[in-house]
Amino acid sequence: MADFRNIPEPNYEYDIDELTRAYREAVTDIQDELTRTDLTDLSRGKAQSVLAQVTVILGRLTKKSFDWVKRVIPSAAIGGVMRTLMALGLAKTPEEAREKAKLNRMNQNMVAAAVADTQNDLLAVSNNIDRRVRAAVRRAVGDVMRANMAKGVNGTRTLSTDVLARVRKELGDAADNAIIDARGRRWKVETYVDMVARTKTMYAHTEATMNEALGRGVLYGIVSSHGAKDACRFHEGRIIRLTDEGDANYPTYEQLRSSGQIWHPNCRHTVSPVRRPDNLPERVRDKATQQAEIGDKALATGKRNPTDVE
Ligand SMILES: [Zn+2]
Repeated sequence: MADFRNIPEPNYEYDIDELTRAYREAVTDIQDELTRTDLTDLSRGKAQSVLAQVTVILGRLTKKSFDWVKRVIPSAAIGGVMRTLMALGLAKTPEEAREKAKLNRMNQNMVAAAVADTQNDLLAVSNNIDRRVRAAVRRAVGDVMRANMAKGVNGTRTLSTDVLARVRKELGDAADNAIIDARGRRWKVETYVDMVARTKTMYAHTEATMNEALGRGVLYGIVSSHGAKDACRFHEGRIIRLTDEGDANYPTYEQLRSSGQIWHPNCRHTVSPVRRPDNLPERVRDKATQQAEIGDKALATGKRNPTDVE
């Protein structure tokens, strides 16, 4: 029987850093572009050329993020397949698992959908930045024109520093304060992209784990434990069904996921497939029984995880 402690937890920090850095740099480049613009005689023509630069920066960002998704999502799925091979004792080491890991038909479909979905989420981020920057630049042109007109009337030679400072700040904020989620919360671009990357890679990992297990006729899994502090902790170490099939005493993955208590955005929990729950070592089974009781009570409260964002 596999010892689940030996299966490495997925770690995509390096990749996630790479993606968030790309967004951070693009936001900074756009802010630099806006800061360099001389506001004192901001014309429509000048605004157009600034916006053209912004389009170039965002185009490069989109290309980079799409390539990232095409590389990292399939690799996260392979990680999930490796988890299954090790959990079922079909590979002894991560190296052996990597050698044997292939995406079955279900996983190929899952990966294609997850790639498209993640690319869409990231595209929405750059579209959002684009929209806000355009609106801010348009407002700035209007503000500067009005202020210049007033200047002529008042006979003063320069734009008031108040107007300049306000326009400057609006332009600066436009690039970075861009994302509002379904619950109306505002996210910094970088924090949002980090959440999307983390959530989608873990999703691909876990779905691939389960698809590989189901392809091998395995119906159960055990939830990972790392001493979570949020509502996930109620479900750590319990046994679940991967689909509707199997012993109905165990909740399904979907039931737990849709409760919003575990497998929420940014969640690090995984599932390790188990062919016969009866055959698990006693200590693992005891903990699972204990956690089933705690977990069912938590489910009955209907409370969602506070870190859940959807
Ligand atoms: Zn979790």
